[in-house]
Amino acid sequence: MNPEILRAKQLARELLLSQKSTRLPVSVERLSFDRSVLIDSLEHYCVMTGSTVRQLCAGNMAALKDGCTLVRQRGDRKVYVILYNARANSVRRQSFTLAHEVGHIYLEHEDDDPESERQADAFAAELLLPQVLAAKFLGGLAVEADPVAALAQTFAVSQSMARQRLLSSVMEANYTAQEKELLARYEIALPCRDEPTLIY
Ligand SMILES: [Zn+2]
Repeated sequence: MNPEILRAKQLARELLLSQKSTRLPVSVERLSFDRSVLIDSLEHYCVMTGSTVRQLCAGNMAALKDGCTLVRQRGDRKVYVILYNARANSVRRQSFTLAHEVGHIYLEHEDDDPESERQADAFAAELLLPQVLAAKFLGGLAVEADPVAALAQTFAVSQSMARQRLLSSVMEANYTAQEKELLARYEIALPCRDEPTLIY
């Protein structure tokens, strides 16, 4: 596989492993980041900053269909502001957009060329629906369950993303050390069919 795509997935897993809590589905807005990342809706940001949508996107309205990231220099550090279009899209679509934008930030992309887009998409898919967790979840699924619907529901992703993940499942023997660590930490957050014991 393309090394840059592998790197994008590694960075997504690293971000998941750096979280204190391991809740699923992953909520991008609740993640903690090792750099300054603010997430806001386009509408709210415009009201708060007194700017217009046109000013924000410098005339490039297409950039705002799903969302975009603004970079502000504050002294020697960068502040990233991810803006999403809350009106136009479903919650799952918004979540993918946020994960995709976080991907651009962590991959330190400077522009939106097709290769950067593919990398940001790979980052987003691994962040919201990590391959090892998808495989573990599918392994424990009742035979009569619809795997695509169940994956989409549990990880709060679109059906098409769940379908793609189903096709790209990896064999357990090929997991990297990082994937094994991710599985060990997040396994507890997966739905499970056996009855828990209530202790207090
Ligand atoms: Zn992009």
